[in-house]
Amino acid sequence: MLIVQKYGGTSVANPERIQNAAARVAEYWEKNDSVVVVVSAMSGVTDGLIKMAHSLIPSPNRREMDVLLATGEQTTIALMALALHARGIPATSLTGAQAGIKTDRAHSRAKIKNISPTKIRECLSQGHVVIVAGFQGETDDRMITTLGRGGSDLSAIALAAALKADLCQIYTDVDGVFTADPRLVPNAIKLAEISYDEMLELASLGAKVMQSRSIEFAKKFEVVFEVRSSMNNKPGTIVKEETKSMEDVIIRGISMDKNQAKLTLSRVPDKPGSAANVFKTLGGASISVDMIIQNNSPETAKSATDISFTVDKPNLKRAHDVLLGIKGSIGFAGLAEDDQIAKISIVGVGMKSHSGVAALMFGALADAGINIIMISTSEIKISVIVELEKADEALRALHAAFFPVHRNTNP
Ligand code: ASP
Ligand code: MG
Repeated sequence: MLIVQKYGGTSVANPERIQNAAARVAEYWEKNDSVVVVVSAMSGVTDGLIKMAHSLIPSPNRREMDVLLATGEQTTIALMALALHARGIPATSLTGAQAGIKTDRAHSRAKIKNISPTKIRECLSQGHVVIVAGFQGETDDRMITTLGRGGSDLSAIALAAALKADLCQIYTDVDGVFTADPRLVPNAIKLAEISYDEMLELASLGAKVMQSRSIEFAKKFEVVFEVRSSMNNKPGTIVKEETKSMEDVIIRGISMDKNQAKLTLSRVPDKPGSAANVFKTLGGASISVDMIIQNNSPETAKSATDISFTVDKPNLKRAHDVLLGIKGSIGFAGLAEDDQIAKISIVGVGMKSHSGVAALMFGALADAGINIIMISTSEIKISVIVELEKADEALRALHAAFFPVHRNTNP
């Protein structure tokens, strides 16, 4: 069997953790499996390097940043190889470039173009464990590139696809993907499996288990993988294409995002082009918008409308400023902002085939006395904006409604 294992920063945070990871690699190697290990930088290292660079220059050159940041992972591959040697296991470390990972030239956020795993296969055929530096690759003209924060996940998934691995395991510091953040919802349940689309929704909604791009890549190349803890031996969560039985469950999980803020433009002239101008202006300032609501009340119909939308909190001030700049040309009456909000979303492919999901969601919030500020839906998701102050309570109320305790069959 060919296995790709990825160890994240906390799983290789110090020599002892590296030894633990090496012991796990050894278990598979001793069963005659071929093992390719992808590692992140030790936790805190990448952030530390970025800080050092910024202490020298406010906006460091991206090419040099890639040369710098790639050293984090390069440290870990060598330490991991040495930890395996200490156990008498032959192991070879390879940088992203040596492993044949080719990318485009977009320094600091490069995309993988292709992988030629000749060197990896050669080392495996000699019985070696191969340890590959995550998060990095090289351009055709041999410049070092990195794949964006959290990019080691992408390295692992892409290698699993290129090598047609039989198993891909993503080792992290949580036991898997849960029905909600277990730190906020103590009776959250670990999921045995989840579809790519559900995982993508949960990941992009603030349940930061894995880099979103790596999940998109896995979906595209149909890489089945498992997210599990490197701190224990519990089975994790399998991420794979949606199956019919997945729809039997109404929702898979609930996520929360406290990083949103809301802006409301009042009495926007109700004519073609108003909304286009507002969102073109925001787009031009590279501010991405999430939820949007436009509403005409009977009193103002045919003359003016209110538009509310959300942006990431750090973009609030800029969004406010650029909109004030076009106040004259658009002609809205007021601009209000609110950063004391949170977005809570229920996600599940089962929504496609179950009715009454929205009613259950809104009913549970009503019973808990929580007001809904905005609502949006997609095929497999319903999101609401609530007051920040009530957000944790809302999350728990929804979890209790959708995952009653007696249904906990996955201890
Ligand atoms: N070391 C990189 C980061 O911290 C890549 C990774 O950990 O996946 O973003
Ligand atoms: Mg990481």
